[in-house]
Amino acid sequence: MEQTYFRRGFGLKKELKPLIDAEYHSAIVERIRSRGYTDSFGDVTVRLAQEFGFCYGVDRAVDYAYETVHEFPGKSIWLVGEIIHNPHVNQRMTEMGISFLYPDREGVFDFSVVSSDDVVIMPAFGVTLHDFEELRKVGCVLVDTTCGSVLHVWKRVENYARDGFTAVIHGKYTHEESRATASQVNKHEGGKYLIVRDMEEAMLVCDYIARRPGHLGRQGFLEHFRAKASEGFDPDVDLARVGVANQTTMLAKESMAIGMKIHEAMRERHGDDYAKDNYRSFGTICSATQERQDAVADMMREPPSVMVVIGGYNSSNTNHLAHLCRQHTRTFHIEDAACIDVEAATIRHKPELNPDAPEIVEEAWLPDGPFELGITAGASTPNNKIGDALMRVLRIRGVEVDLGVTAG
Ligand code: SF4
Repeated sequence: MEQTYFRRGFGLKKELKPLIDAEYHSAIVERIRSRGYTDSFGDVTVRLAQEFGFCYGVDRAVDYAYETVHEFPGKSIWLVGEIIHNPHVNQRMTEMGISFLYPDREGVFDFSVVSSDDVVIMPAFGVTLHDFEELRKVGCVLVDTTCGSVLHVWKRVENYARDGFTAVIHGKYTHEESRATASQVNKHEGGKYLIVRDMEEAMLVCDYIARRPGHLGRQGFLEHFRAKASEGFDPDVDLARVGVANQTTMLAKESMAIGMKIHEAMRERHGDDYAKDNYRSFGTICSATQERQDAVADMMREPPSVMVVIGGYNSSNTNHLAHLCRQHTRTFHIEDAACIDVEAATIRHKPELNPDAPEIVEEAWLPDGPFELGITAGASTPNNKIGDALMRVLRIRGVEVDLGVTAG
C-alpha cells in the first residue's frame, strides 16, 4: 500500500541544507556568536542572548516543508495554518508554491478544497484530533511536522484522560497548539479539558475547587470558560481529579505556580490524602523555550540599556521573552526589521504582553552616548531577520558594518 503519512522527512536534509542555510543565515549574527555573544560596533556594545531564535522544532518543520516541495513537484501542497509564527518564513512558503488553509473565527478548517491527490503539511504545533481524522479521510499525503515536545505534552494529556483526570492546560485557547493539545482528551471517552490563560484565570478555578468565599457560581463558571472547556464540562464533577499541563511556550514560572495553586486548592477542599491521589502535574514547557527564557534571565542580571526582542506578535514564546525583559530594562518587541525606520530614527513596537495590543511608534529611543544593546528573538525568528534588525539599529547610529552582506 502506498505510504501517505510521513513524519520523518524524505532524506533530503543534507541536499537542501545549503539552500536553507543561505535563506536564513546572518553573517553579523554568526560574528557576534563566534565572539562570545558580545561584540562592539562604534559606540554600541551588542549583547546577544546565549540562546535565541529558531528552536529544534521550528528547524525541523521548515526543513520538512522544503523537503516536501522537492519530493512532490507538480502536486498541490497545502499547509494547515502557519508552519510557524513568522511572516517571512510563511511568505517563503507561499513563494515555493505552498497554499495556506486558514480556520474560520471559531477555529474550524474547511478541507473541502483538498483532494486525495494533494499533499498537506501539518505545522510544528500540530493539529486537533478532529482535523487529523478529517485529513486522513481525504486520503491525501500528510507530512506531519508536529514537534516531538508537543507530542510529549499530548501523551500526558491523553494519559490524564485515560485515567479519569481532567487536563487543566495553561495556554491560550485560541492558540493552535493549545487547541491541538486539548483535543487529545478525546482519545478516551468522557475525557475532559479546561484551558486557563494565566494566574488570574487559574485562580477562578482554584476558588471554585476550594469553594472560597466569592467564587464564581456554577453558571458563571460555565459562562466564563464556555469556549475554553470540553463539551459538557461540569465543574462540580470534572474538577474532582485534575492533571496539569501547559502549552510548551508559556512562562515556565507561571505554569509551575498555577499547578501549585491548583494543588493547594484541592488540599484545602478535600485534604492532603485526597489531593495526593487526585492531582497530577508535569512540567511540559519545552527545553527550547526554557533555554531562551533562562538566557534572557541571565542577561537581565546586568541588563543592557536597551533590549530588542524580535518575533511575531502572535508568537507566544516571543511575547513571553519580551515580558521578562520589560521587568528589567527598556524593551522593544518588534515583529521584524521593518519596524525600525533608519531615516526617521524611530521604532514601531508592541509595548505589552497581549498579542493584540496596538503598536506604538517611538522617537529618540536610543541613548545619546555609548550604550549596550541586548538582542534576542523568539523560536520562530530566523537569523537573517535578527541580523537585519541589528543592522538597522547600527545604521541609525551611523555605523556601517562591512560583512559582505546587504542590510535589510
Ligand atoms: S517552541 Fe518548543 S515545542 Fe514549540 S516547536 Fe519549538 S521546540 Fe517544539
